[in-house]
Amino acid sequence: MRLNQIIWLNASDMMKREVELKVVNLKKYFPVQKSFLERLFSKKIEYVQAVNEISFQVKKGEVFSLVGESGCGKTTTGRLIVRLIDPTGGKIFFKGKDVTSLKGESLREFRKYAQIIFQNPYASLNPKMRIGEAMGDPLEIHGIATGEKKKKIVFEMLEKVGLEPAKKFYGVYPFELSGGQRQRIAIGRAMILNPELVVADEPISMIDVSLRAKILELMLTLKDEKNLTYIFITHDLAVAKYISDWIGIMYLGEIVEIGRKEQIFSTPLHPYTKALLSAIPVPNPKRKREDIQLKGEVPSSINPPSGCKFHPRCNFAMEKCRSSKPPLQLLEKDHQVACHLF
Ligand code: SF4
Repeated sequence: MRLNQIIWLNASDMMKREVELKVVNLKKYFPVQKSFLERLFSKKIEYVQAVNEISFQVKKGEVFSLVGESGCGKTTTGRLIVRLIDPTGGKIFFKGKDVTSLKGESLREFRKYAQIIFQNPYASLNPKMRIGEAMGDPLEIHGIATGEKKKKIVFEMLEKVGLEPAKKFYGVYPFELSGGQRQRIAIGRAMILNPELVVADEPISMIDVSLRAKILELMLTLKDEKNLTYIFITHDLAVAKYISDWIGIMYLGEIVEIGRKEQIFSTPLHPYTKALLSAIPVPNPKRKREDIQLKGEVPSSINPPSGCKFHPRCNFAMEKCRSSKPPLQLLEKDHQVACHLF
């Protein structure tokens, strides 16, 4: 257990803000589904190691982005945090309370405070439900409002997420809306219970480029108004730069670097972070930048590489990297990295 990696975060400026979310050695393994014949000839159960003992914490009102290629475990981490799936190991603390094993009524109560915005606005809304019903449903489920009171709250939220006149949008079906409008609905539905923690899983990746900035601005406005804490999940470091206070870089289920946004962009440490940064397009073609090409594909998370999981793709890999896993260690204030180079 690497408790040291969260203690330093506690010590930095916890005096100013309370810790909203703390994740300690969080782990999620999924058993691999096998065919009948495979099960007949092999009794061995294999697991996809989606999230492997990650630890971090987020203070109230801050945005912590989890960034990495697809399959790195960031979406699974988001789902674990809002308790849509159960962890294989580790702990999740919300406002100091252990919410890892909540069940039944306590879990339902927790969900009032912790909501998720899904990536796909086309799949996250029930096509048979009118927008007003879809947005108002959580209010009824949690016993907050019904009838006219519910309608009033939904109208207010529709206006807040920029869908005006609210009356027009209340009665329409999702298929009548554009991708951007649907994602506004999804954001409104997540916000309608007045949550304190919101996990946003790639909320702009399926929206037209022209609308992305507007959705991010909307999310930031709502965050400031309600003093929300965001876990923002993205594969795009440029988006993370826009919205985050902190960035955690994930690779094959592990966090390999955590720092304040400024540190990740001005002094990236991990070779994987540097490679991700070098992939961001530069608007000025004359501006020179280090071009780091990653070798090969992301390895399987069923049989991940030994030692540092990044070693088969790393240009700096040493003998030690193949056998020994580098711990996440604090290199400078607020900046941690897991790499034998340091
Ligand atoms: Fe590369 Fe070794 Fe650092 Fe891993 S530990 S990132 S293989 S140098």
